Amino acid sequence: MNIHNLDFLQSGRWNGLAFFSGWQPTVAGTVDITDPATGQHVANVGFGGAADIARAAREAKAAQKGWAKMLALERAKILNRAADLLEEHGAELAPWIMRESGSIHTKAMIEIEHGALFIRHAATLATAATGTFLPGMDERTHYARRVPHGVVGVISPFNFPLVLSIRSIAPALALGNTVVHKPDPRTPISGGIIIARIFEEAGLPQGVLHIIPGGAEAGEALCTDDNIAMISFTGSARGGSKVGELCGKHLKKVQLELGGKNALIILDDADLDVAASNAAWGAFLHQGQICMATGLVLAEEPIAAGLAERLAVKAAHLPVGDPSSHQVALGPIISDQQVAGIQAIVDDAVAKGAKLLAGGIHDGRYYKATVLSGVTPGMRAFDEEIFGPVACIVSFKSDEDAVELANRSEYGLAAGVISGNVGRAMALGDQLNVGQLHINDQTVNGGPYAPFGGRGKSGNGSRMGGPADIEEFTQWQWVSVKDQAAAYPF
Ligand code: NAD
Repeated sequence: MNIHNLDFLQSGRWNGLAFFSGWQPTVAGTVDITDPATGQHVANVGFGGAADIARAAREAKAAQKGWAKMLALERAKILNRAADLLEEHGAELAPWIMRESGSIHTKAMIEIEHGALFIRHAATLATAATGTFLPGMDERTHYARRVPHGVVGVISPFNFPLVLSIRSIAPALALGNTVVHKPDPRTPISGGIIIARIFEEAGLPQGVLHIIPGGAEAGEALCTDDNIAMISFTGSARGGSKVGELCGKHLKKVQLELGGKNALIILDDADLDVAASNAAWGAFLHQGQICMATGLVLAEEPIAAGLAERLAVKAAHLPVGDPSSHQVALGPIISDQQVAGIQAIVDDAVAKGAKLLAGGIHDGRYYKATVLSGVTPGMRAFDEEIFGPVACIVSFKSDEDAVELANRSEYGLAAGVISGNVGRAMALGDQLNVGQLHINDQTVNGGPYAPFGGRGKSGNGSRMGGPADIEEFTQWQWVSVKDQAAAYPF
């Protein structure tokens, strides 16, 4: 970490601006960023509308051919320099992430470390061999190669803004695309300005990356712009459905990474203290505002009460407050509206017979770690993604029963199974309808080398990361070569 130079981000060069080919104002004006913990002003950035997106897309298209022609090794070097800068300035950048998104320090550092890893992984893609010779169909030489789509539009959410933006931007760039990125307007510094700064300092040519903070209007403008070939979207199923509809209409490739209601299944032979700790981390990290958060804790009947008791004790001891000024485990929820949504789901569960064992209350945006037991289908807490720090305990009688309960969800992102018997856990896990399965771990896991994504309403079958990146951010081109052109019968 570079602790001597603390003005990497605070130079004032980006205040009130967006990142086109350099820092420039948007037509649509600016947006104020406030700390969700205190309501205090953090900064002001350029806010993009349809005209700004159109301009960025034009400039990105103009820059794409030159960027794709640059030697792969040179593209990889720029990416690796950007990763170095993110790590070197991590100590300065983490407090921005904390203030803007209400993150505790641990979570902010996870974003920085994983962000750098995602960029380094992407750099390896730039130099990977991505083509194949085809069997002879005639006397010609035939081969197929992967080529970039052109301009990729990226849309990212507020909860892990840095990592979830980088995991699309970095592989898209590495593989020869240029990018127009629209971070969530509540977290444009962590999800945009930091990324622009590291690539700017790393020597990325102007025009290759545009970062325009904006809302749904700017996002929809990306989906309908003819200069954009692909959209990489991370967010809610509602937003994703609209994005998918627009991309379908405008015939664009679209990658949708959406919500989740992820089951952690705890079998009767599990170590209960370890299992409770897994459930607490999965349900409460970043106030439960994670797509892979443990949304249901399915506990086998003989251990359900013991597990609930341990989890309630843990929840009661987790301090909640402003992460920038106090040592806390949970920071604020992103908005008052989101707090009201969490409370409504908890109240619905209690009204329908669930037991509130801890929490269930909030002080402004500080929502206490909450444990509900006796949650059953038909309660909103069972059926819906909560995006709040609520552990919902559901008891089950048999492994078949656990599979049936877990597979009821319309989502299918992640699941975990904890048991003293790995074979039993794997046999159960094999039956779960999810994109990522963790045996003897909770549901919150991610990283650059694994294909990340979900089934059902968690996405459209696309994956991000690892072997999926080349598949997603390039397309096949068939090339045939004759020594000489020959005449046809016509
Ligand atoms: P959201 O869909 O409201 O917003 C996400 C992004 O989409 C933001 O940048 C927003 O401005 C933009 N957007 C919203 N409506 C749009 C539209 N009509 N057209 C284009 N862009 C639009 O999501 P949110 O509620 O802010 O984020 C939380 C959701 O994201 C949760 O459901 C969570 O599970 C999901 N999520 C999924 C993943 C994943 O990898 N699967 C990761 C993080 C979050």
